[in-house]
Amino acid sequence: VIDIQHLSKSFGSHEVLKDINFSVEKGEVVTVIGSSGSGKSTLLRCINLLEIPSGGEIIYHGENILQKKNLNDYRKHMGMVFQQFNLFNNWDVLNNCTVGQKKILKRSKAEAEEIALNYLKVVGMDRYVKARPHQLSGGQKQRVAIARALSMSPDALLFDEPTSALDPEMVGEVLRVMKELAQSGLTMIIVTHEMEFAREISDRIVFMDKGLIVEEGSPDELFNNPKHERTKAFLQRAL
Ligand code: ATP
Ligand code: MG
Repeated sequence: VIDIQHLSKSFGSHEVLKDINFSVEKGEVVTVIGSSGSGKSTLLRCINLLEIPSGGEIIYHGENILQKKNLNDYRKHMGMVFQQFNLFNNWDVLNNCTVGQKKILKRSKAEAEEIALNYLKVVGMDRYVKARPHQLSGGQKQRVAIARALSMSPDALLFDEPTSALDPEMVGEVLRVMKELAQSGLTMIIVTHEMEFAREISDRIVFMDKGLIVEEGSPDELFNNPKHERTKAFLQRAL
């Protein structure tokens, strides 16, 4: 789906990502792990162009999209789920899940609603179409945010610590939905501190440290047989 070559990103003189090479195949579930400040969020934000990389290439359908004038054409194919949900608080659940479809994908109201309802069912939130975000629990809000992202028919869905803002008793319902999506063949790139979950659902784990990809491999390789000292040290703290 995406192939990233020599990607770098600096904020002023601070080089946050250094020569990142990273690709994701269709249907693959890749989890990015690493310490706070290692650049995980910045990598996700560069992948969907919420941040513009300082250097390198993002190859999508054979083209380096960073050389294109209209980045929105690409952006709409990359869905994102944030730690803080980012729902529109003044709108009900259904509207939250249809506005982007109508505005960006130019879908009709009827079509957008049908698609939204379908995904709200998938995440178990179809009974709440008229609810406003403030009436929902954190876990419910995050499931709506996932339905909203899916309603845009993304080529890949990026998750930045989707359970970190949740009360512990709500983490499970969100992880359950994500696991179902992973098994359904959705292409997913996930940043999470939920190591057991990562091990269970990922095809591949990527370990980042100080703006570099230090090591990547299958969950078994990375968790049971880490090669690099930095990976070992991180896992010792995290597991
Ligand atoms: P965490 O696990 O805490 O979420 P992370 O791995 O996601 O960490 P990033 O948020 O990508 O890390 O941040 C990497 C580095 O880039 C940090 O040092 C951070 O301070 C810096 N950084 C991120 N965004 C910006 C920004 N908009 N302006 C300046 N510096 C930034
Ligand atoms: Mg982060």
